[in-house]
Amino acid sequence: MTRLAALTWPEVAARASGGGPVLAVPVGATEQHGPHLPLSTDTDIAVALAEGLADALPDIVVAPPVAYGSSGEHQGFAGTLSIGQEALESLLVELVRSGSATFPRVVLVSAHGGNAQPVARAVQQLRYEGREVSAWSPRWGGDAHAGRTETSLMLALAPHRVHVERAEPGATAPIGELLPHLRQGGLRAVTANGVLGDPTGANAPEGTALLHRAVGELVAWVRRLKGDA
Ligand SMILES: [Zn+2]
Repeated sequence: MTRLAALTWPEVAARASGGGPVLAVPVGATEQHGPHLPLSTDTDIAVALAEGLADALPDIVVAPPVAYGSSGEHQGFAGTLSIGQEALESLLVELVRSGSATFPRVVLVSAHGGNAQPVARAVQQLRYEGREVSAWSPRWGGDAHAGRTETSLMLALAPHRVHVERAEPGATAPIGELLPHLRQGGLRAVTANGVLGDPTGANAPEGTALLHRAVGELVAWVRRLKGDA
């Protein structure tokens, strides 16, 4: 598995001349994930997905992650660092413009729902400019934020960074019911601990299975993009 940050420029140049590897950019966030998960959760998950892709396909280079995203809805909780939709959109546009000088194809792997719109707008702009860029996000199903799904994923990825003893249910109503309040007042308006869902019962095997499935979907999607599926 190849990480861009570990290479020298001649190494990158040699790879790029050999038919064009794909640059995979993990797009995460720095935002609260309840009292039991670290603020890097979405970034950690995006990195794991991109690295899983690079483990499965030979010609993938994993970029350093974009660790800041659009997380305004989490602002009511300490530690959240959001750059907002516009800044994320222009960050991605500039990053891919720069990266596509070396890599003929770029894929953005975003693990934070709040990034969806700026990511889509950046891709639209870059495609208009004729660049080969595409975005992919996992669809986990399950609960929305810092619940069983993300807690299981983190137990699979970095168990020492999960405070299982502090994992408690948050707002468990269906997301459709919560949405109007969420739009109005952010997560603070609907959940006291920052959790949407119920992390109790989360476990590493479930997280490993979820990751495995998502990486499989990502690999198939990239193969289709490259036209070799
Ligand atoms: Zn998350």
